Amino acid sequence: MKASKAIVIAIDGTSASGKSTNAKLVAKRLGFTYVDTGAMYRTLAWYGIKSRIDMHDGKAIAQLCRKWKTKCLCIDGHVRLLVDGYYPEKEIRTAQTSAAVPHVAAVPKVRDWMKQLQRDCVQFGNLVMEGRDIGTHIFPETEHKFYLDANLEERSKRREADGIDEDLAKRDQRDSQRSTAPLMVALGAKVINTSGLTPDQSSQQIIDGILERDPQVQALMDC
Ligand code: C5P
Repeated sequence: MKASKAIVIAIDGTSASGKSTNAKLVAKRLGFTYVDTGAMYRTLAWYGIKSRIDMHDGKAIAQLCRKWKTKCLCIDGHVRLLVDGYYPEKEIRTAQTSAAVPHVAAVPKVRDWMKQLQRDCVQFGNLVMEGRDIGTHIFPETEHKFYLDANLEERSKRREADGIDEDLAKRDQRDSQRSTAPLMVALGAKVINTSGLTPDQSSQQIIDGILERDPQVQALMDC
C-alpha cells in the first residue's frame, strides 16, 4: 500500500498519558494496525545497554543503529521490531531501559533511521501510530492528529499500578527539550486530557475526532 493511500492516526503525548491504551482501543475499533514507536526506541536502548554502549555517546549509538540487524513484522495487528528474530517485550519496560531511552531518542541519526522505518509501516495498511513526534515529524501530512496528556499525579499512579517506579517529569523534560523532533503539540492536533477519563471515554473522543474530520472512516468501523 502506498503512503498516500493509507490512513494514519497519529497519537502523541506525555509519558503514561494513556497513549498505548487508547491507541490499541482505537486500532481495534477501526481494524487498523497498531504501531508503538516508543517500543522501537526502547528496543534500541535495550540493545545498546546489552552491547555495553555508553548512553551519552551519540556517535556510538548512531553507529550501533547503522549496524543493527532488525526487521519489522506485523503480528496480530501489532507492528514489532525484532532484533535477530527476538522481541524483548519484558526487557524494554524496565526502569533501566526507561532511563536510557531519552538519550538514544535524542540522537538525530537515530531519529532519521526511525523515521524511515516508521513511515514504511504503511506496508501493513491503515495505522494507529503512537509516540512523541508522529503528528509533527513522522506523518505531518495526516489530518488525524491527537495529543494526550494527564496531570502528573495521575500519570505517576498509572505507572505505579504497572509496578514501575520512575521519574516521569524528568523523562518528559528530556523529550520536550531535545533539539531534534521534541515532544510538542502538532499543529491542528486535538488535545485530550485523560485525567479522570476511562479508556472507553478517551478513546471515544479520539474516534469522534476522526469521524469529524473524515466521516467515511465510519464505513471501516461498520464492516
Ligand atoms: O512511549 P514510551 O514511554 O514507550 O516511549 C519511550 C521513550 O521513547 C520516550 O520517553 C522518548 O524518549 C522516546 N520516544 C521518542 N519518540 C517517539 C516515541 C518514543 O522520542 N516517537
